Amino acid sequence: MATAMEVKLDPWGQTQVDDYTKLFEEFGISSFDEILPRIDYPQKYMRRKIIFGHRNYEFILKAMQKHQPFSVMSGFMPSGRAHFGHMMVMNEIIWHQQCGGDAFVAIADMEAHAVRGISWDLCKELGINEYILSLIALGFEPKGHIYFQSRNYDLRDLAFELAVEANFSEVSAIYGFCGETHIAHMESVMAQSADILQPQLSKYSGPKPVVIPVGADQDAHIRLTRDLAYRMRKFLVEQRPSYVSIRGKAAEPKLIEAAIDRLKEAGYNKIMRYEEHIDILEPSILGEIDEIIRKVEVEYGEFGFIPPASIYHRFMTGLTGGKMSSSKPESYIGLTEAPDKAAEKIMKAITGGRQSLSEQKKLGGEPERCSIYEFLLFHLSENDGEMREIFEECRGGKRMCGSCKKEVAERIWLFLTEHQRAREVAREMLPEFGINI
Ligand code: SF4
Repeated sequence: MATAMEVKLDPWGQTQVDDYTKLFEEFGISSFDEILPRIDYPQKYMRRKIIFGHRNYEFILKAMQKHQPFSVMSGFMPSGRAHFGHMMVMNEIIWHQQCGGDAFVAIADMEAHAVRGISWDLCKELGINEYILSLIALGFEPKGHIYFQSRNYDLRDLAFELAVEANFSEVSAIYGFCGETHIAHMESVMAQSADILQPQLSKYSGPKPVVIPVGADQDAHIRLTRDLAYRMRKFLVEQRPSYVSIRGKAAEPKLIEAAIDRLKEAGYNKIMRYEEHIDILEPSILGEIDEIIRKVEVEYGEFGFIPPASIYHRFMTGLTGGKMSSSKPESYIGLTEAPDKAAEKIMKAITGGRQSLSEQKKLGGEPERCSIYEFLLFHLSENDGEMREIFEECRGGKRMCGSCKKEVAERIWLFLTEHQRAREVAREMLPEFGINI
């Protein structure tokens, strides 16, 4: 098992994270367990602890419960086949859209072109045929936003602004860049941060909580983007032992004057103005002051970004053991794969079963180490009671792998047949999403 120091996340690699709890310690991700009881109707992945961690999800929850604006955003790199791992992210986006979030989906073609050398034509083909059609087939609604990075000029402008705040050393420390790294690769990192912050542009009604559903290996992007969001602010609002300090970071005098005016309008009177900062010397609520100051920034044409929130799901085990990987076709099932072929892969998958039937009956199987059980848990059963039953039957030696795999193969066949039919309906709907083939 990896130690805390060995847990390094590589956004472009195939890092297998053995112990998710280490992430809580090393990277400051909070456990989802603590927030789960406050969610009225949690999504399946939340209930089943597949989503295990979060940053600042409480802001999303608050917005949901008070019917205030919030967004959900994630993206897909069009470099290969969309599989069930990608479908998890799609389902998380759709769930938040159904809960009232303004939903954004990026097709990260700039990243695919820069990092994987995929041609623009292939990026478009894979983006539409693999990802967008499945996303719509699963229930993404036209009120959301689907876009290709390379054709989104707001995004590219924002990426440039963010690049003004980021420097080579810090980005290299996160992503392992070196002298040989292509400039376009670095630009694609800025484009991803811009993807995450874009829902807060004034075009989309300005700053708001935004949640990014990701796998744990994407946390580096989240950390960098949160830092950049802070740096794009013109003021830094901080609680000191007996007062609140508002420091202007490159804030023009007119912004400082406006900030004082708005604070007075809100009833704050004990305000001290210094050359570069303002202190509020009376009992005050930090969040409320930050909101007032953020509005001043937006009023004067600044971004006033709120650092993005995030939720982290664990990875599915590949059918061949280890992580599901696009470079190992036998390890995953594609959403566009022929249902018969998918059923065959299930029949050949590594299970948590014992060496022999008699051992299985005596000792029971190990569903927690079984890729077949995971397919049910993650995707092929909506019924928690049924999952508990299957788990107990397996552990109790009453369920045998041969018949279990056959049942899951049938379910996957049915799911893919229906999903692929829904994709054909989705193809007709592409113009509603502003997508031209
Ligand atoms: S019986 Fe089913 S759940 Fe249990 S180990 Fe075998 S395949 Fe997995």
